[in-house]
Amino acid sequence: MMRPYNFSAGPAAIPLEVLERAAKEMTDWHGCGMGVMEMSHRGKEFISIYEQAESNFRTLLSVPPAFKILFMQGGGLAENAIVPLNLSRGLDVDFVLSGSWSQKSFKEAMRYCSPRIAASSEPNGFRDFPHPSTWDVNPKAQYLHICTNETIHGVECHALPDLKSLGSDAPLVIDFSSHVLSQPVDWHRVGLAFAGAQKNIGPAGLTIVVVREDLLEQALPICPSAFEYATVAKNSSMYNTPPTYSIYMAGLMFEWLLTQQEGSLGGVLAMQKRNQEKARLLYDAIDASSFFSNPVSLPSRSWMNVPFFLADPAKDATFLKQAHDRGLLQLKGHKSVGGMRASIYNAMPIEGVQALVDFLKDFEANEA
Ligand SMILES: *Cc1c(COP(=O)(O)O)cnc(C)c1O
Repeated sequence: MMRPYNFSAGPAAIPLEVLERAAKEMTDWHGCGMGVMEMSHRGKEFISIYEQAESNFRTLLSVPPAFKILFMQGGGLAENAIVPLNLSRGLDVDFVLSGSWSQKSFKEAMRYCSPRIAASSEPNGFRDFPHPSTWDVNPKAQYLHICTNETIHGVECHALPDLKSLGSDAPLVIDFSSHVLSQPVDWHRVGLAFAGAQKNIGPAGLTIVVVREDLLEQALPICPSAFEYATVAKNSSMYNTPPTYSIYMAGLMFEWLLTQQEGSLGGVLAMQKRNQEKARLLYDAIDASSFFSNPVSLPSRSWMNVPFFLADPAKDATFLKQAHDRGLLQLKGHKSVGGMRASIYNAMPIEGVQALVDFLKDFEANEA
């Protein structure tokens, strides 16, 4: 039987092959007599799972040796506090607001330091990612925070800013939770990147932090030890018990990504090509329709999260029911913006997007 296509924004779909492999290994991992959930995080079995996952992530995203990769808990929202606790020194920091997530990060930072808004697209309803040429950068800021993919508003930053050219030596902090591993990262422009796993990596519970080594030793004294990047790094993410099963699942996902191929492209480059094709297919269908619409400006449209609205919101419930009956799950938009949202992460095949596009056409023909 065919599995339905799952468009959830997160926790989100995981490739069937990955789930089936996890199922096969559930009670006995590689003949060791234990399931992964039952292993000591300090035993040789789990250490090998952890080391393989870390090294595959480094390979997939070409993370340079000057960066530590930390496997933490707490999710993206905890990082909104953990980042200022570790990097702000209680002083000035800059934010660019491009949607709900950067806005939440900005508000949380107020508890620990003096955040300031360098640019915001809130006045136009978060319809684009503010162009770096318009940013008012504070040269004294300890870092500048952006969310490179706004999961709720469907706004993506498609080229990381070069802060040096804007007159700032501040490290760039990126929340790349909802598009990590969907495309390469230009690490020359980044000081720290964080991502909750439940969007484009695997199950909830794991947060990956990639941090430049020179930023490790400046945490505020009130920073909880378990959240101090230097402590986590020194202990290879095992200062406290890490989310072992989520790390294992992330590791299976990384192995799956390494096998993905699009023509001569492999891994993340293959995903980037596929993700662009998926997004183009869906946006083209929405733009060609007079019944469905997406409000985001063309250069800022997300390849991962596609919010769209019916011309007649009274038909929303009918749309969702018919979609569900056709095996198209979890298309309801975030409650703060309404409408619909199709999240088309790495695990979504192009066939799933095609099925959604076919449904949009049929729905418009029958109901609009
Ligand atoms: C989901 C999400 C978060 C929050 O993640 P939690 O794990 O719920 O704390 C933060 N930032 C972005 C961009 C997200 O999509």
